[in-house]
Amino acid sequence: MSDYVFAAPPQAAAPVAGDKKFPVRRIFCVGQNYAAHAREMGGDPTREAPFFFTKPADAVVIDGADAPYPSLTKNLHHEIELVVAIGTGGANIPADKALDHIYGYAVGLDLTRRDLQAAARENKKPWDMSKGFDFSAPIGAIQPAAQIGHPAKGRIALTVNGAVKQDGDLADLIWSVPEIVAALSTYVALAPGDLIFTGTPSGVGPLVKGDILVGEIAGVGEVRTKIV
Ligand code: MN
Repeated sequence: MSDYVFAAPPQAAAPVAGDKKFPVRRIFCVGQNYAAHAREMGGDPTREAPFFFTKPADAVVIDGADAPYPSLTKNLHHEIELVVAIGTGGANIPADKALDHIYGYAVGLDLTRRDLQAAARENKKPWDMSKGFDFSAPIGAIQPAAQIGHPAKGRIALTVNGAVKQDGDLADLIWSVPEIVAALSTYVALAPGDLIFTGTPSGVGPLVKGDILVGEIAGVGEVRTKIV
């Protein structure tokens, strides 16, 4: 008999290439990590320090599944991102050891209630409800680094209904993947199962019900979802 007062929730998981699954522990996201996107958000693309926010683990939408248009927004936005999947935990990880902690990589979508985010920024309130809502983190199959290596450059692009909306290159990340892992691990002890969305290139924009999103990163793979 379990000591829980009701059945424990199912383990959130992301697909791994092949037939395995990656158990998701936490989802961290980096803000404004491409200069052109920082500028389109009215920010200043500096290297002062990366900043982070989070989504619940069960915000994951498995590749190919539908993403419901969320409540309380009239301006749902797409943000395609390289996702880092942590396989080995640690705190205060040096950047030159960071790649050793990475299990693999995937293509993800940081779906955003842009109107709520703008209001939060304006009023110096938390971003949580603009970023961490249900079904806010579609993710494609995780590719093990043992098979694809550690991508540091390559096209990252998103089409909506076949039209290219975002088109960037991983080489334009302000903070590199090792720098992100190192910085985040000073705030929290990273653990196996953590995902890190590494920021989006420019070209973010609104979505409506019926939109079909296909995100692609060279050498990593794809993510697909439909807004319903
Ligand atoms: Mn983002």
